[in-house]
Amino acid sequence: MTVNGISLSELPAAQTMTVLPFDPADVTLISPFTPSHTGIDMNTITGGRFLSPGTGIVTLIELNTGQGRPGTNYRVRIHLTNTGINALYHFEIDGSISDQSQQNNILVELGDPVTAGQNIGNLASLGPNAHVHFDMLDAGGRATVQCPLVYFSPGVAATWEDLYDEKIRQRDEERIKDNRGAVPSLPDLCNDVDLSN
Ligand SMILES: [Zn+2]
Repeated sequence: MTVNGISLSELPAAQTMTVLPFDPADVTLISPFTPSHTGIDMNTITGGRFLSPGTGIVTLIELNTGQGRPGTNYRVRIHLTNTGINALYHFEIDGSISDQSQQNNILVELGDPVTAGQNIGNLASLGPNAHVHFDMLDAGGRATVQCPLVYFSPGVAATWEDLYDEKIRQRDEERIKDNRGAVPSLPDLCNDVDLSN
């Protein structure tokens, strides 16, 4: 099977995560991977639930990561033990909360073992731009980052792409209602060129 030009059958079977890294019921908008945006963004309702895509160990917990103002973001990384791949969740609040409130939305501790589907953290969403930037990073880190979809099973990748399409269409309907017009074309969730809009 090919998703956005990437042949998933070429990947080792061990790299096919079978659980979405979020609860789809909580998602309000998804923004795609591009060469200049090396991850996928999920906007959610307040308290949107984020999940481990596989068995792993928590290798990073960070409050106030230094990207952006203090109080605006926190981060969790999980090393997926079957593959050596790292799942990175960067929570962006769209507002500002205390260190304690950030900590309260992180549901695991450094060194904890986690299982597929385990709720590892929630998005403390204060505004419409609150989102989680989700990356899958191999041992080489960001230099070799690929679109996260390539690490998921074809079924999960298709579900994720369908949810993205649905949310973009809903946003377009609202834009048309407000006389702001639809986004001209629906880009893929994984793009190898930057998008003009
Ligand atoms: Zn992002």
